[in-house]
Amino acid sequence: MHLKSLTVRGFKSFASATTFNFEPGVTAVVGPNGSGKSNVVDALAWVMGEQGAKTLRGGKMEDVIFAGTSGRPPLGRAHVSLTIDNTDGALPIEYSEVTISRTLFRSGGSEYAINGAGCRLLDIQELLSDSGLGREMHVIVGQGQLDRVLHATPEDRRGFIEEAAGILKHRRRKERTVRK
Ligand code: ATP
Ligand code: MG
Repeated sequence: MHLKSLTVRGFKSFASATTFNFEPGVTAVVGPNGSGKSNVVDALAWVMGEQGAKTLRGGKMEDVIFAGTSGRPPLGRAHVSLTIDNTDGALPIEYSEVTISRTLFRSGGSEYAINGAGCRLLDIQELLSDSGLGREMHVIVGQGQLDRVLHATPEDRRGFIEEAAGILKHRRRKERTVRK
């Protein structure tokens, strides 16, 4: 399994549709300060289900929507889609290529899809956590986050391990059931 491509439109500094193609192996993103490198990583985290505005370096979720520049008006929605090569079947779904997408409207609504079919955020989280590609930070270690891993409380450390082991999904399910 590897990431094939990422398309962003109206997400943070990417007003126009922009696609990044990835080859198997290591990808490096280079560019001047403020050019949007970290925004690419934020887009990856966001489309995979990140719900923490702070993790996305904003104050509220709406901050991911292109806010406008002197020459360009703000946009009404942010959209990100991520295509994953699944020829090895690492994702528990009968497709050799899987595209997950997420859209947030300034009015507040959200849309999620797997291969074009609308779904819930939960469906995306479960699809990915089965493969070890979860939303927790053992996947994406951002600038300054290494410290958080090294100095994590025992509870947080347990969370990382549970996510990696695929247990977290069952705990989330249990919590939902208990709430009902
Ligand atoms: P550095 O090398 O300093 O880490 P970077 O390449 O990682 O820089 P980013 O943090 O990805 O840069 O991008 C920051 C830019 O994104 C800023 O110019 C900021 O104004 C812009 N930006 C962030 N959110 C939005 C938004 N919602 N709308 C428009 N622009 C945004
Ligand atoms: Mg950066």
